[in-house]
Amino acid sequence: MGLIKKYHDLLVKKEISCVELTQKYLDEINKSNGDLNAYITVTDELALENAKKVDAKIKAGEEISLLEGIPMTLKDNISTKGVETTCASKILSGYKPIYDATVYEILKSSGAVMLGKTNMDEFAMGSSSETSYFGGSKNPHNLSCCAGGSSGGGASAVGGNLAVYAIGSDTGGSIRQPASFCGVVGLKPTYGAVSRYGLIAYASSFDQIGPITKTVEDASIVFDAISKYDEKDSTSTGSNYETFNTLNDDIKGKKIGIAYEYLNGVKDEVKEAVLNASKVYESLGAEIVYFNLKELDYALPVYYILACAEASSNLGRYDGIRYGYKCEHYEGTHDMICRTRSEGFGEEVKRRILLGTYVLSAGYYDAYYKKAQNLRGSIVRAFDRAFADCDVILAPTVPMTAFKLGKAQFDPIETYLTDICTVPVNIASLPAVSVPCGIDKEGLPIGMQLIGRKFDEKTLLNIAYKYEQSTDNLKETKWGVKL
Ligand code: GLN
Repeated sequence: MGLIKKYHDLLVKKEISCVELTQKYLDEINKSNGDLNAYITVTDELALENAKKVDAKIKAGEEISLLEGIPMTLKDNISTKGVETTCASKILSGYKPIYDATVYEILKSSGAVMLGKTNMDEFAMGSSSETSYFGGSKNPHNLSCCAGGSSGGGASAVGGNLAVYAIGSDTGGSIRQPASFCGVVGLKPTYGAVSRYGLIAYASSFDQIGPITKTVEDASIVFDAISKYDEKDSTSTGSNYETFNTLNDDIKGKKIGIAYEYLNGVKDEVKEAVLNASKVYESLGAEIVYFNLKELDYALPVYYILACAEASSNLGRYDGIRYGYKCEHYEGTHDMICRTRSEGFGEEVKRRILLGTYVLSAGYYDAYYKKAQNLRGSIVRAFDRAFADCDVILAPTVPMTAFKLGKAQFDPIETYLTDICTVPVNIASLPAVSVPCGIDKEGLPIGMQLIGRKFDEKTLLNIAYKYEQSTDNLKETKWGVKL
């Protein structure tokens, strides 16, 4: 059983009250957030107020839904009415949205208890959470390592038991990579399945919201709740299915594909753990098929060109007039905008705005942006061909385990390269989930990635669940959860 059902049962049986459960998590935050730096804002009063409402409902004998009263957290790029939403950037300091993101609206109406807003890389640009204006989040398994990024705060919070689940966003791996580093489950849904309304945009054609949880079952419960059509997001489709009831279906005869290219340059221990997972699948009656996916070679340049181009356009709105930070001293409007942006954005964000502006500029548009768009099409078609022969693809989530704090800042290109296994999924708008599949010699979690067909989260989560139920990976560590 996952954590959500476990707490739901305890609440229904009145073995714990929602206020007690919420307080238990708030106490953990008080105790460990100083070390982990997982939360930027803790909304303790709001959480306890909502918890009281759930308790009143239970006392009155009313039925509660699975997510009702469960303490959770949102990444700080998801708009929350009246609650500071900073994107971990100085430029949005003090910004309180005047509306809720759809995903929060859905969860709120399901009775979720929000504990606070979690740390992240500034504007979700990064892989270690260290581009955050508030400093990086740390890994609960080893405080000298990063939690990953950009949803590092959420993964650190769930991994370190400071929230039952977290809602993150994934543009090029930001849910799956930190989940992998922190030994938890991270689901990046199909593009369009979850509304992006109220998610502060980084690269709109890639951005997608999804859950970070302790177990696949929890990810399925949260996904089923949040994957609803929303007319406020023009790319929203929602999902017309539930994943929960088919989690335990037999996977005999399912085909699991492994692309050789995904195993290139991957740390030995990670490769071994992923190949061991394939053996578990064989023992469950699934068939493993190997194939080539040569187009993966183009994935990183395609992603970084297109994501930076979209970011340079999306971040144009931060001008010192409309939101958050405004510089103190200036002479005229132009100077004010220049100074606000120079002082308000961090180094990585500026680097990407410059790169994006460059690839979109008249002289270079065809050479970079247009070429990258064409190659995006080739990658989409390559996945289509691959899925003609398999039901899901198995790959590492990241070629390595969590890196030491400070390393990502040192060499940005080196850090971009570590996104190689996650970005192809966003390029092709596919769903993918990272599931813990081992521990390396240093005691750091290893994650494997399962990639599904578009809008086939049902098969994806079913196959992920069956693996999770057949293994014992994290149960022995102090962060483990009894399934
Ligand atoms: N690490 C990738 C980047 O920096 C992905 C980030 C994300 O998914 N938001 O762009």
